Parts: sequence; structure tokens; C-alpha cells
Amino acid sequence: MATLGNPQNTIAILNKYGFNFQKKFGQNFLIDTHVLEKIIRAANITKDDFIVEIGPGIGTMTQYLCEAAREVVAVEIDKNLIPILENDTLSAYDNVIVINQDILKLDLNKLVKERNNGKPVKVVANLPYYITTPIIMGLFEKETPIENITVMVQKEVAQRMQVGPGTKDYGALSLAVQYYAEPYIVANVPPNCFMPRPNVGSAVIQLTKHKEKPVQVKDEKLMFKLIRASFNQRRKTLQNGLNNSPELQFSKEEIINAIEEAGFVPSIRGEALTLEDFARLADILSQ
Ligand code: SAM
Repeated sequence: MATLGNPQNTIAILNKYGFNFQKKFGQNFLIDTHVLEKIIRAANITKDDFIVEIGPGIGTMTQYLCEAAREVVAVEIDKNLIPILENDTLSAYDNVIVINQDILKLDLNKLVKERNNGKPVKVVANLPYYITTPIIMGLFEKETPIENITVMVQKEVAQRMQVGPGTKDYGALSLAVQYYAEPYIVANVPPNCFMPRPNVGSAVIQLTKHKEKPVQVKDEKLMFKLIRASFNQRRKTLQNGLNNSPELQFSKEEIINAIEEAGFVPSIRGEALTLEDFARLADILSQ
């Protein structure tokens, strides 16, 4: 039975092992059963599911995952947590493997191929916030077979992932996430649901991978270079953003012509463009 989702049991485990939180690993453990249940419900886990959990901590959410899923792989960077997980909090479950590695260095595609015949997995995590973007973009860009990702992230980051053009949070992350997946904010979570309390608000967001990309673009890499260039200098015009980017080698005339051919004036700002607009601009420039 899942036993850790409250402050008393969490403190008991921490004391038993003399565990000290490491700030550099973004360690904020969940201590609220309602939040845990909400995450598990949103992830819609069945006994057919193979789950990858990033950063199990002392195994609080892992216990819930083990009970709901067929198999769980939990990837944890902090070696001090491994004996707690293996000898104590997860020892009653025979459907979990703990891997002591940096998720950013793990070949997840190989793992999914070997352990789940390459079939799509679900990713569930209370993420270490300092590497939210590289983790999520890594999962998408490496084409890891994934059905959906249900994760706790910093509240502002969840908002950035979800919003569209014309809002202050709209940016490169919104476009990148929405190119690969449909975002949905499941819940906002206050700092008192964690130990220790983070300095920021949190939110659970679910990213359901698109079966087909929402836009067709000839040169995906070029589209993302355009997106990065447009938002690198937020208050600059699209034309200046593209001109000043070290990643792009187009002349001023080529840029102006392409922006006009895409149906915009060169003084437009990048933040007004949709994913379709960036795809169209990339297609024009790749000709
Ligand atoms: N899942 C636990 C919970 O909800 O209580 C812990 C979540 S805590 C926010 C993030 C976890 O990710 C920590 O256990 C931390 O050690 C781990 N972590 C940090 N960086 C990591 C990395 N690069 N690869 C794998 N795990 C990492």
C-alpha cells in the first residue's frame, strides 16, 4: 500500500536514513495524498501501462504508480536515495526497476525498446524544476515512443507551455511543446504540498503527444531556429530578430521578402505568429 504521501511518514523515512535534501537536484518531495491521487487519475494508468518516472525521490509517487501500472522504471540521479528505494519504500513491489542515472544522459529509446518492445510509454513525474525544459524537449526531440507526459512543473512554466499568441507567456517553449503535444493544465499545486516547500507555485500539466504533427513543415530545424530567433529578442521586430540571429544566414532582403510573402509586415513581432505562421515562413525561406 502507498504509505508515504504525508509529512509524518516522509519525515520518518528521512530520519531513518539520515537523508539530507540536495538543493542542486531540485528535491521537493510531495507530501499530499490528494495531489498524488490527482496526478495518478490524470495520467489514466491501467495495468497495461509501462511508466517511466523521472526522479522518484524516496518513492512517494512510485508506490502509487506501482499499484496502478504493469511496470515502472524510476530514474533517480541521487545515489543516496537508491538504498531507501530498493531496501525500503519499494521493496514490496516486484514491478519496478530503479535506475541510478541522470535522465538527461540515459538512452530512454533503448530502454523502451528493450523493456516495452518499443511501444509507447507514459511518463509521470514531479520534475526537478532546474531541468524541466531539457527533459521535456529531450523526450520529444529524440522521438521517444510516448503516449503522454503528466508532470509537476513550475506554475509559470506550465502556463508558458499552454498559451497561444498575443499573451505575455507565449514564447519558444509554447511553440515547441505545442508542435509535439496537446497541453492541458490538470491542477495548480501550492508550495505547502511539498517538503521542503519550493519558493514558487507549481502545476500539474499533461502533454498528450499528437498522432500527427499539427503543421507540416519541410525543414523542422529551420522552423525552430526561426522561433528561437524571434523570441530571443522579445521586443524586437520579427525582421530584426531574424537578422540578428547567429543561427540564421539570410540576407536582410531575403528576410523582408519572406516575411511579406508569408503575409506580414516586417515590423510585426514574433509573438504575434502562430505555429502555422512559423511553418509557412520556414517553408518560404527553405526554398
Ligand atoms: N518524485 C518525488 C516526489 O514527488 O516526492 C521527488 C520529486 S523531486 C521534485 C525531483 C527528483 O528528481 C529528486 O528525487 C531528484 O533527486 C531527482 N533528480 C534531479 N535531477 C535528476 C536527473 N538529472 N535525473 C534523474 N533524477 C533527477
